[in-house]
Amino acid sequence: MAKIYYDKDAKPEVLKGQKIAIIGYGSQGHAHAQNLNDSGLDVVVGLRDGDPDVEKAKAAGLEVALVEDAAKAGDIVIMLIPDDVQARVYGESVLPGLVSGNALFFAHGFNIHYNQIVPQPDIDVVMVAPKGPGPMVRQMYVEGGGVPSLVAVYQDYTGTALERGLAYAKGLGATRAGVIETTFKEETETDLFGEQAVLCGGCSELVKAGFDTLVEAGYQPEIAYFECLHELKLIVDLIHYHGISGMRQRVSDTAEYGDLTRGPRVIDQDVREEMKRILEGVQSGAFATEWVLENQANRATMEALRRREAAHPIETLGKELRSMMTWLQE
Ligand code: NAD
Ligand code: MG
Repeated sequence: MAKIYYDKDAKPEVLKGQKIAIIGYGSQGHAHAQNLNDSGLDVVVGLRDGDPDVEKAKAAGLEVALVEDAAKAGDIVIMLIPDDVQARVYGESVLPGLVSGNALFFAHGFNIHYNQIVPQPDIDVVMVAPKGPGPMVRQMYVEGGGVPSLVAVYQDYTGTALERGLAYAKGLGATRAGVIETTFKEETETDLFGEQAVLCGGCSELVKAGFDTLVEAGYQPEIAYFECLHELKLIVDLIHYHGISGMRQRVSDTAEYGDLTRGPRVIDQDVREEMKRILEGVQSGAFATEWVLENQANRATMEALRRREAAHPIETLGKELRSMMTWLQE
């Protein structure tokens, strides 16, 4: 069973006199900066010259500096910019500001686990990763709660790496909800596998396959869209709030019987074997290498796939159908 830390396990004193440089002010960055600042910690936000987020951070009453100056000032530097630019920004602007005993923090393990960033041995390397989007991390904090988060230590030079991570997590509000201990390896590999096999890849292909099956059999695409895509949210919400059995209790017995007997035929042994091969590609680093090279190739494959997917009837038709549903408009 996982080790879970709460408020009482965190020692805020370990961050006394330590400045926290938050690199990036996007989804996670704005929430971390504001929560830690409101918790009384000493925060500086690091951004590029001319970044539109500079004004947002200043408007929130935060100290803002160039990335290199923030990294230099920070005893703790957390990388909250997109994962695919972190290695470059680290090399150019963060590394020069790191001195012995500093700590390098992340909210996702990709760059450390797959050696895109190879940290010097005389610093702490820690992950504090909220299991929720930035705006929720901010909102929960303001309401007096927190979002469950992960903590991991990759490198403990000072002997206080975990304490620093937990004190940071407390400033974020995360220890109010619970902070689960993990490793960079576990967080990175499970995160990639989950998004590939289940959340993004598995789910969107399942929806498309169902839609295609009905349309190819001669049913109207509009009806197929509602059955295979639109109603997914209802079911996912039921699973999210009540678990799988709770969802089954809330749909009809006909739906539940069809689920129990046909579901394992859709996700059959072949699919489970393929999931294992996808996990193997994550564990071996093959996926990471492919993605890093794809970025170096200016995302040639990704852009071609994006164009092809956008032209699928479920997308063009979906746009029309969603415009009929006023509650779906932002
Ligand atoms: P984001 O895309 O919202 O971050 C954008 C910020 O980075 C902006 O302030 C932007 O100006 C700045 N930025 C972009 N390129 C830059 C560059 N080259 N130099 C300097 N600044 C640059 O990022 P995010 O979604 O908050 O993700 C940050 C980290 O948090 C990632 O490691 C991500 O995996 C992790 N994470 C994200 C979420 C989430 O819900 N978004 C959840 C958990 C963990
Ligand atoms: Mg420094």
